[in-house]
Amino acid sequence: MARIVQKYGGTSVGSVEKIENVADRVTRAAEAGSELIVVVSAMGKSTDQLVGLANDITEHPSKREMDMLLSTGEQVTISLLTMALLKRGVEAVSYTGGQAGILTEATHGNARIKEIDSERLTNQLEAGKVLVVAGFQGVTEDGSITTLGRGGSDTTAVALAAAVGADRCEIYTDVTGVFTTDPRYVKKARKLQAVSYDEMLEMANLGAGVLHPRAVEFAKNYEVPLMVASSMVEETGTMIEEEVTVEKNLIVRGIAFENDVTKVTVAGLPNRMDTLPKLFSILSSNGVNVDIIIQNQYDEDHVNISFSITQCSLKETVACLEQAKNELEFEHLYHEEDLAKVSIVGSGMISNPGVAATMFEALAKNEIFIKMVSTSEIKVSAVVSEDDMVMAVEVLHDAFKLDEVHEEQAAQLV
Ligand code: ADP
Ligand code: ASP
Ligand code: MG
Repeated sequence: MARIVQKYGGTSVGSVEKIENVADRVTRAAEAGSELIVVVSAMGKSTDQLVGLANDITEHPSKREMDMLLSTGEQVTISLLTMALLKRGVEAVSYTGGQAGILTEATHGNARIKEIDSERLTNQLEAGKVLVVAGFQGVTEDGSITTLGRGGSDTTAVALAAAVGADRCEIYTDVTGVFTTDPRYVKKARKLQAVSYDEMLEMANLGAGVLHPRAVEFAKNYEVPLMVASSMVEETGTMIEEEVTVEKNLIVRGIAFENDVTKVTVAGLPNRMDTLPKLFSILSSNGVNVDIIIQNQYDEDHVNISFSITQCSLKETVACLEQAKNELEFEHLYHEEDLAKVSIVGSGMISNPGVAATMFEALAKNEIFIKMVSTSEIKVSAVVSEDDMVMAVEVLHDAFKLDEVHEEQAAQLV
């Protein structure tokens, strides 16, 4: 008997009608004889609404109370879906994250799962129950409710799949799979048959919101076969797996992008061994997360250091650097807001020189100015103006012919 974890995201459970649709789908899977855990998100935009309520009360809500508040969104869905299943004669039972045995670290707002005590779940599965579990939440050792970071229900699903030894984890959402890029922005985006764990992890980390990065990390570490498909349309989705056998030779498999990038430049720093460690330890001790870093020596004694951060950490960054101006001995501090990062991702890049050149040429030809660059074995990222973001993605989608099905795959599809 197959043991399956299914996850339905916010849009897929956004109304009573949609919850009834999910209940129909779960009922069919249960009647087909599968053992099922169903993980659900909060209905529609209700997490955003809860955040709004907290912000109406205070600008700086307590992180513990914020988790207490946000976790209620998913609890609404588990109870309603379970009622809909019971109405259909399916023996279902709902659990919060804590009741499902999900133990997390005590970092409120972005907790990592430490351990899952799956005994209750496996007993109930073996007793023939369909288990409906609240996504995005867990509890700390001392019983406080935590949340796993926005989009974290995917992680709940994959982590549970690993814990109960499920045969696969199916993520049902409002698109029919993982596309070459976000289909909401780029019309030519094409659904991929398969993506490797590593490629998907890069894409998710670089802004492709279709999967929570930690969900992909879990899937890779515990070798959970992962699928992304539509909760509305009956259509084969995308498999995320260790090694992709279709379109094997694709150099670039997808393009991810994110806005809200800010570039900060600390100019006129002393060209000394201790400059970099001092600068970045000040930033890290103030909780500033830095992404791309560029160092540039412009005379014998001085360097400029630029780095990128998210827009929301700008205030903190400027404040802590201004405060440390004498210690760091820099001359000027300036920043550029409203930037975006566009990244091409594909494991075929490792063995193909010239990928970055193609990317830069294509952007230059379309007069898109690149402000920063970073690379890894399987990605190249370029920081551009936010106004150019979507055009940059379209240009790169064309340059790497991502809308075309690779011949190998065409042969397989026949
Ligand atoms: P859910 O509420 O089901 O978790 P999300 O909104 O978190 O859904 O994720 C689905 C969304 O991810 C899609 O609507 C799409 O806009 C976005 N997305 C970003 N990149 C991609 C991609 N490469 N392929 C598919 N969808 C993507
Ligand atoms: N409800 C949470 C959010 O909106 C978690 C999720 O949907 O995955 O971020
Ligand atoms: Mg999501």
